Amino acid sequence: MHKLAKTTLTLSGLSCSCVSAERWLRRTPNIVSMCRQFVSAQQSNSTGHDDVYDVIISGGGMVGSAMACSLGMDPSLEDKKILLLDAGHKKVMDSVPETYSTRVSSISPGSATLLAVVGAWDQIKNMRYKPYKRMQVWDACSDALIIFDKDNLEEEMAYIVENDVIVAALTKQLDRLSHNVQVQYRSKVVKYQWPMPHQATDYMPWVQVTLATGETLRTKLLIGADGQNSMVRKGLGIPTVKWDYDQSAVVAVLRLSEPTENNVAWQRFLPTGPIAMLPLSDSESSLVWSTSHHVAEELLQLDEESFVDAVNSAFWSNENQSDLVETAGSMFRSALSALMPSAGSPRQLPPSVAAIGPKSRVMFPLGMGHASEYVRHRVALIGDSAHRVHPLAGQGVNLGFGDVACLTHLLSQAAFNGKDLGATQHLLEYETERQRHNLPMMAAIDLMKRLYSSDAAPLVLLRTFGLQATNMLPTLKEQIMGFASR
Ligand SMILES: Cc1cc2nc3c(=O)[nH]c(=O)nc-3n(C[C@H](O)[C@H](O)[C@H](O)COP(=O)(O)OP(=O)(O)OC[C@H]3O[C@@H](n4cnc5c(N)ncnc54)[C@H](O)[C@@H]3O)c2cc1C
Repeated sequence: MHKLAKTTLTLSGLSCSCVSAERWLRRTPNIVSMCRQFVSAQQSNSTGHDDVYDVIISGGGMVGSAMACSLGMDPSLEDKKILLLDAGHKKVMDSVPETYSTRVSSISPGSATLLAVVGAWDQIKNMRYKPYKRMQVWDACSDALIIFDKDNLEEEMAYIVENDVIVAALTKQLDRLSHNVQVQYRSKVVKYQWPMPHQATDYMPWVQVTLATGETLRTKLLIGADGQNSMVRKGLGIPTVKWDYDQSAVVAVLRLSEPTENNVAWQRFLPTGPIAMLPLSDSESSLVWSTSHHVAEELLQLDEESFVDAVNSAFWSNENQSDLVETAGSMFRSALSALMPSAGSPRQLPPSVAAIGPKSRVMFPLGMGHASEYVRHRVALIGDSAHRVHPLAGQGVNLGFGDVACLTHLLSQAAFNGKDLGATQHLLEYETERQRHNLPMMAAIDLMKRLYSSDAAPLVLLRTFGLQATNMLPTLKEQIMGFASR
């Protein structure tokens, strides 16, 4: 037998024994990685595709950057060629700015765990974040409320973090992972070319990515993390269910009248849309006020004092309440209290607002969108490119981080088992697992938005009874919190 063929056979044998020994070697990732690097080097040499990336992630927002870190941290993917592309510039934060950014996210414990696994959470904590221990949600048309907390304020429920801080922490981590993950900023993708499944292998079997500079790259797996207007999703022609909410969110930094512990997230449902105040520090909070485009534009034009009055009035005014609903609601509440005297946490009053951060008012149009497929041959969508939700439940980026955790797990398994990362089989597993989680969450958010958009008395009564009853059922509330915190 020819000497080269013999060597290849020996290497194939090594490849097989690497795969079959995986369970014993799980605890010694370095040995596995060395084996795999060796086998992978042979495979790439034999096919002559050294310049092909194993994974290209298109879009380096919060979700794409987390994906890049997550793949870069995984021992089974150590020998893979991974590239993150982003149209924007590199977002570094040498020191934390004095003023808070208007763009913040409520980060669930599940997302905090993912950020810790990818090595960014400690950096976020060193920069700036605010945990909160309770969430009070109430109806402006009836004062019915629901309070979520864990072990009566013993445990943190979630964290408010500025989006810039999350991206900066992930960017720093990517610098540390530069031996595993390459990053190209200011690299806008202008064209994708898709491989055809089952095509002859000497024809272009990979995804081809063309940058605005004219540079062309090839990859075995393209991960689309390019946001709600995803070019990846559109380029593939993936059908998407979407609608605009006819609402915009006005965001701003709020200065409270006096410093408090400020560890409660507040949300009041007005018939025009929900208004939320999320803690940033003892004396500052972040505003997310969803309302009609027209009112949002007016709010942006108001002078600072009138804007502050409008915010305080939105949290405190009783103008949307009717005597009928109030009487029925309080009778129902008394009946529930008689049946379950110890259930339900006491109502708290939100802090009042004294001022806003300079130039901090911005508005964003709101909508919902869901890609009917998250994967195609050699392509997967994550984050807002696959799903977009109303911010009322603070779930958008959390769903995206859930995608990252799930896809990393499946790609890691595939790499460990020596499989092609772009193969449809495990990508479909990703799609099924994530749609099972994302779709019910999206449906619940959309239903909530619709349920609270009306001040018709029968609907107000229905939701008043529902909210009050749920507030008295700790097990149900724990289940809701458990689902939202994943
Ligand atoms: C008012 C408001 C409040 C919110 N509050 C919360 C909250 O409290 N909690 C929560 O979980 N979510 C929240 N969200 C949702 C959250 O902001 C989004 O889900 C999240 O930003 C999506 O991140 P992403 O990385 O998927 O997409 P994006 O942030 O849109 O990032 C996409 C990236 O892709 C890059 N890109 C796009 N096209 C190309 C291209 N052709 N080539 C190269 N790069 C490209 C862009 O430069 C960008 O960096 C809120 C949203 C809004 C509007």
